[in-house]
Amino acid sequence: MAGPSETVTRLAEGIARGERRSLAKAITLVESTRADHRMQAEDLLDSLLPRTGNAVRIGITGVPGVGKSTFIEAFGLHLVESGYKVAVLAVDPSSSISGGSILGDKTRMPRLSAAESAFIRPSPSSGSLGGVASHTREAMLLCEAAGYDVVLVETVGVGQSEYVVASMVDFFLVLVLPGGGDELQGIKRGIMELADALAINKADGDAITRAELTAAEYTAAFHLVRSGGVWEPPVVTVSALEGRGMDAVWSIAKDHREKLGASGELERKRADQRRQWFSSLLHEGLSRRFLSRPDVAAAIEEAERGIDGHTVTPTAAARRVLELLD
Ligand code: GDP
Repeated sequence: MAGPSETVTRLAEGIARGERRSLAKAITLVESTRADHRMQAEDLLDSLLPRTGNAVRIGITGVPGVGKSTFIEAFGLHLVESGYKVAVLAVDPSSSISGGSILGDKTRMPRLSAAESAFIRPSPSSGSLGGVASHTREAMLLCEAAGYDVVLVETVGVGQSEYVVASMVDFFLVLVLPGGGDELQGIKRGIMELADALAINKADGDAITRAELTAAEYTAAFHLVRSGGVWEPPVVTVSALEGRGMDAVWSIAKDHREKLGASGELERKRADQRRQWFSSLLHEGLSRRFLSRPDVAAAIEEAERGIDGHTVTPTAAARRVLELLD
């Protein structure tokens, strides 16, 4: 086999120089489903691998309307003003179906997208959650190779996408709204376990007191669920609209990195994430390849008829189809 193609070499050089155009093209390449593009994308990622891993990887989630894009704009600008290069990526497998706002869309972050040291890329808009997530991970590596210091990965707080984003970042930030002051607003227990920090957004105007009360409730809840670990998630109040609290969130992220870095936890976390990513690719690839075989499709149809007609149990039917593997 020849070495990497000319296209790949040129893209790799452009990315190493931090060129945005090369970065954008490379991400398009990794998102492509064409077999020759996949090969090129693999070569490209292989050649850039030594340049990856240096960014602070931050995931951001919250329900629609909580203020994610406003927050990312304010937080991103704060980081840019502090001298960092910031990339914004997104995981939103529903965007192609809903046709709604594609996460990471530049028009939602007009000031940040105009900043010289910011790079914003909308979610890959097609495919399964696993596929979208895998492309986002690759895009993250490309951003790191291009010298971005902080990578923000946005996702909506519905479905499984938070779990997937949490499994690709170092630090997972959950945004919530000031509550009514009497209960934790329907936040899934799983999210309490995923979060590395929680920010109550829209703590401005007459919502300030409510936001403080909500913060106290979450602090108590984290203390119950998460005390005793290496890291107990801090809770802060912020106003993305007024740009307040951005420095506090960044100090928390830096503190988290220092603590986990010192204990070796960060490297372990990343190593686990790489293993998980590999394993999910393997599983997805296996089932896709198997299920797309014509003989398998026919056997599945026959099995389904048997199940519908009560002539075979689902267990026996599945075993018969799987025997085609042998
Ligand atoms: P997303 O759907 O989570 O991305 O939320 P957006 O960033 O689009 O914000 C939804 C709405 O909340 C918009 O009208 C924002 O102007 C508003 N908003 C966002 N952050 C704040 C904030 O800190 N304070 C107030 N008062 N409004 C905010």
